[in-house]
Amino acid sequence: MAEEWKQGPAIGIDLGTTYSCVGVWQNDRVEIIVNDQGNRTTPSYVAFTEKERLVGDAAKNQVARNPTNSVFDAKRLIGRRFSDPLVQNDINLWPFKVIEGSKDKPMIVVSYKGEDKQFAAEEISSMVLKNMREIAEAYLGKTVKNAVVTVPAYFNDAQRKATMDAGGIAGLNVMRILNEPTAAAIAYGLDNVGRIGKRNVLIFDLGGGTADISLLTVEENSFEVKAVAGDTHLGGEDFDNRMVNHFVQIFKRWHKKDISGNARALRRLRTACERAKRILSSAIETTIEVDSLYDGIDFSSTITRAKFAELNMDLFRNSIELVERCLTDAKMDKGSVNDVVLTGGSTRIPKVQQLLQDFFDGKELNRSINPDEAVAYGASVQAASLTGMCNEKVKNIVLLDVTPLSLGVDLKSGLMSVVIPRNTAIPTKMESYYTTTVDNQTEMLVAVYEGERARFVDNCWLGEFTLRGIPSAPSGVPSVVICFDIDANGILNVSAWERTTGVSHKITITNEMARLPKEEINRMIKDAEMYKVEDDKYREKAEAKAALENYAYDMRNTVNDKENGAKLDPAGKKRIEGAVQQVTQWLDWNQLAEADELEEKLIGLQLICNPIIAKNAKEQ
Ligand code: AMP
Repeated sequence: MAEEWKQGPAIGIDLGTTYSCVGVWQNDRVEIIVNDQGNRTTPSYVAFTEKERLVGDAAKNQVARNPTNSVFDAKRLIGRRFSDPLVQNDINLWPFKVIEGSKDKPMIVVSYKGEDKQFAAEEISSMVLKNMREIAEAYLGKTVKNAVVTVPAYFNDAQRKATMDAGGIAGLNVMRILNEPTAAAIAYGLDNVGRIGKRNVLIFDLGGGTADISLLTVEENSFEVKAVAGDTHLGGEDFDNRMVNHFVQIFKRWHKKDISGNARALRRLRTACERAKRILSSAIETTIEVDSLYDGIDFSSTITRAKFAELNMDLFRNSIELVERCLTDAKMDKGSVNDVVLTGGSTRIPKVQQLLQDFFDGKELNRSINPDEAVAYGASVQAASLTGMCNEKVKNIVLLDVTPLSLGVDLKSGLMSVVIPRNTAIPTKMESYYTTTVDNQTEMLVAVYEGERARFVDNCWLGEFTLRGIPSAPSGVPSVVICFDIDANGILNVSAWERTTGVSHKITITNEMARLPKEEINRMIKDAEMYKVEDDKYREKAEAKAALENYAYDMRNTVNDKENGAKLDPAGKKRIEGAVQQVTQWLDWNQLAEADELEEKLIGLQLICNPIIAKNAKEQ
């Protein structure tokens, strides 16, 4: 591998559905980096307004005012198709608009500076990633190029590739796509396991959008994933939605009005529900109150912890079923699990904890790692390990992960022929042999699928290619080798060749439907730079305007001040008043003035006022 990417610091980014977190290895430990608001996690939000683009806290803080142009949940869309039923379901709940783009790709539509703009989920995620990168750069005082980015272990090939693309658009060299529970296991293992020998550790990660279960054997600095199970669409937001629906029904019953079509009302209700959900993790009852929720009606209602649990019981149970599946795949019984480690914000829900504890026959659950930061912590360790800029213990970390889903090709019979079974250790390379089904067949269509269903049509299509140049022969004679190669990021390459004649064709899937073509990515990289320039320009303008206004008001206050104003000579005072009035009038008429014009005005005003003030000060 080229050495240049090893230059400079490497950060670890937990790109979350609702919040993201960034860390770096420094001074022999991981530092979780705070953002400009002093927060250790940053909302994965991007908002577009008439004037500017906002990312993170600034974007989330204005959501209630601008719901249709405030985008969140990009992680729920990334690598998915528009026609995916889960996407369709989400679209009904989101206040922003999502339309079908080319090749079934979902596109987010927002109004930015008065114009409709379309963004792919990769672009929105790239803006979040770029923001995290800038947070790290501000802290480190240097440019950051390299990053380890985490994804749910259960993310499929398309979702992983799309996340890599998002990193590329953000100008990052994504050194590794790391599974979130594996990252959490590193955070847990580094601090705990080294001292107590070999442990089987189950990481139960229930976040805002995804549930991820991983079973690992951890010993010293070796982390071997035995199996993973998960649901890329199960988490805190689903619990919020249940509560929102509950209150929509209550509102309907009480006021005979349906608020479900009103984006702003839903957004405000969702914010209140999310807050109530958090409170219910420590209190047994809480009240949600939203002033003027709909048609001027104030809404107030209580909800108990028990009711919240009832609304979500099937979803909570689903997360426990994933644990069962993970253990079965790892061929391990629950008694062999030494530690059950909780991570992800939603593991704070008491009912989830109780169900999990009951499943493990009352075993104490381990809450020693910080659920909001553990993933970024592990990613930062891995980033340091890959660049070698760390101590011996971290440098020698051995990570063995698995592939979450079975991968295979379609067969004429309609069945899926599995080439790599799920939960196979990666990186890996496996081959399967196929032959022709009709005489003198010279071409073979190889379609690649991912999933656990027996029929290939029920699984997720990843891409296809045609192998040409198979020598004419009776059916069943040619021998075609199909090779699946999964790298350490969990990303798949497929190749095929005919071997009886020595004529070999090697083809790699490059143009999967869900993935952005190279030219599109290049365009997005350019756009990202353009947005940055626009953001900077806007900020510069806003700052220049504020500086001019502040100075003008300062001067006006000085001349109007009873004590200081009286000390000024009347001619000077009049000049200042006149100049300030001219500037404020000019500002009223020139709302769209550029930064340099504003700066020029400021200098002009200072040239008039400063000498008068200075002269006056000298005379006193
Ligand atoms: P993560 O993706 O791990 O950052 O988790 C974020 C999710 O955790 C969001 O859905 C939050 O609403 C949820 N969450 C955070 N704190 C709590 C809490 N105290 N009780 C219940 N859910 C929480």
